[in-house]
Amino acid sequence: MTIPMYGLVEAGGTKFVLGIASGKDDVHETVRIPTTTPDETIGAMVDWFSARGPLAAVGVASFGPIDLDPASARYGYITETPKPHWSGTDLVGPLKVGLKCPVALDTDVNAAALAEYLWGVAQGCRTSLYFTIGTGIGGGAVIEGKTLRGLSHPEMGHIRLTRHPNDLEFAGTCPFHGDCLEGLASGPAIIARWGKSLSDLPADHEAHDIIAHYLAQLVVSMQAVFEPGRISLGGGVMGTAGLIDRVHNMAARLGAGYFKSCAEDIVTLPGLGDRSGLLGALALAMGAES
Ligand code: ZN
Repeated sequence: MTIPMYGLVEAGGTKFVLGIASGKDDVHETVRIPTTTPDETIGAMVDWFSARGPLAAVGVASFGPIDLDPASARYGYITETPKPHWSGTDLVGPLKVGLKCPVALDTDVNAAALAEYLWGVAQGCRTSLYFTIGTGIGGGAVIEGKTLRGLSHPEMGHIRLTRHPNDLEFAGTCPFHGDCLEGLASGPAIIARWGKSLSDLPADHEAHDIIAHYLAQLVVSMQAVFEPGRISLGGGVMGTAGLIDRVHNMAARLGAGYFKSCAEDIVTLPGLGDRSGLLGALALAMGAES
């Protein structure tokens, strides 16, 4: 019996990372392809996989927004994105045609949430969430082993928040909503206010408490909606020393003991670190086969 091989795609705005794997401890032959035009990048991706023999399935963990409605004529397309040339790009079709195998697509954050559920810090959780706090803010959810989708996919980075009293002037950086969560707490929003990334600001700078104040609101809002067993917070901003502790403390204060679990017990850094992208794609591919 031959071991099934899966194709993995971490589709990002600046690069596509591809890999081949038979399981989570066997991710090999990875390559990076710059995200240029859809024709170039998708063509290079199909060529690379084609040269590696038959695949059982391909999993694509993609930047969004993407159309995930199986009933839609544009299922598998990137929809409206500020990324030049990529709005209306069919991601799934060329892979299916070129590689003749099932292709599973989901958002990068839903895929990462699924990988954390299968192999990381959310194992055994009936409901778990994963967030990336970085260039943008995105969230994914896994409920009873399946990623959460609605009319589209979750857009939890765009929730509205109460402003920190020392942060009332900043308009926010979200091109759609101004001061939504992404507009206030993403890496670019931090640099727009204080000129440096959070990890480069002194530990006693008020930015730390302001950003923790917003992330704590995210945590308690998600506790109110989902009562999740795990919320993992990843992405570059979360690499700031001490930030997770500040989020714990503020979320505990805002939650006021009302929820089933205290923030400290359910909010963690991700378990899979920078492997969450490709392992998320693997999780999708393994699901596509069944
Ligand atoms: Zn927004």
